[in-house]
Amino acid sequence: MNAIPPGSTIGILGGGQLGRMTALAAATLGYRCHIFCPEKDSPAAQVSAAATVAAYTDHEALARFAREVAVVTYEFENIPHAPVAELERLVPVRPSANVLQISQDRVREKSFLNGIGIATAPWRQITDAATLQNAIQELGLPSVLKTARLGYDGKGQVAVKPGHADPAALWQAMVKAMPDPAEAVLERFVNFEREISVIVVRGPDGKHANYVAVENRHEHHILAQTIAPARIPLATARKAEGMARHIAEKLDLVGIIAVEMFVGENGELMVNELAPRPHNSGHWTIDACVTSQFEQVVRAICGLPLGSPRRHSDAVMDNLIGDAVDRWPELIKDPDAKLHLYGKAEARPGRKMGHVTRLLPRKDGSLSDS
Ligand code: AMP
Repeated sequence: MNAIPPGSTIGILGGGQLGRMTALAAATLGYRCHIFCPEKDSPAAQVSAAATVAAYTDHEALARFAREVAVVTYEFENIPHAPVAELERLVPVRPSANVLQISQDRVREKSFLNGIGIATAPWRQITDAATLQNAIQELGLPSVLKTARLGYDGKGQVAVKPGHADPAALWQAMVKAMPDPAEAVLERFVNFEREISVIVVRGPDGKHANYVAVENRHEHHILAQTIAPARIPLATARKAEGMARHIAEKLDLVGIIAVEMFVGENGELMVNELAPRPHNSGHWTIDACVTSQFEQVVRAICGLPLGSPRRHSDAVMDNLIGDAVDRWPELIKDPDAKLHLYGKAEARPGRKMGHVTRLLPRKDGSLSDS
């Protein structure tokens, strides 16, 4: 195995908190990070050896960046695909541009998942008012209309409820908010019992590790809290973890992926979304596991052996969103709360400013698996 050794520079596209926490983990293993993003003084650049502030479409800046790094990864999946594919011709990009392309388009993502035998909520591809009309008839209401690309944290989504369906008007409103060509999916509304996620890491040699399935609670479509492990039957958790590993293998993933799922009323599992980057629902691993998700992504993309994902504690992670971060003086007084702040100057509503993790003794008392 040709490992990229400590001392090398890892390139990260994107400058947010996920890049920041990856750079911090990389530093503990002796790597340097070089952040490429359009914003000045980004959370990731604040803790990294080098930063390029440029547009993702700046070809010269990308070529220079490629010469200075040994491997490239990305910390959010709405990076335009073209520059990532351009970089891939110059330097290893992990996860690959192909994985990125699948995960940034809901039509591609759901087709891929269904094609490898993974269940999703029933869905249809929407390209105009007529396909929307047909899909409403086939799937029924309530349903959710989602833009195919560039949606996150509930952006680019509308609930379509019974009695509220003038497909032409709905489509017109959606088209305005969408990049060209306009494309969306209609998804049947799932009366889920719980939302969970599983994070898998996989190295270039195909070896993988996964964290235990965790439970996620959203407020206003933004993750508010993660409970590790998820309070679901062990068999359901093991099934979810198996599905996530199957997805990573079929993607030929090198790096990390988070698989978000719904647990239906009868315990059935449906995948909602894939994110080929460290995930908010894995922040608890920093404080509760032998190896955090951030250290694992560094190990995976550099071709080092993966660390143990085993948790020594159960955990509850709360996001600090918007002005919730003003509670930091009170949180820091709690000696058992692990406070993480992202170095963002301005606390706008909906902006993830930090998180706090509380550790609990492992309920199952076992130290044998994840
Ligand atoms: P997404 O952007 O697809 O991750 O959706 C954001 C959140 O909206 C999810 O975490 C769910 O809470 C909710 N949601 C999305 N799709 C559905 C669905 N088909 N049925 C019920 N809730 C949904």
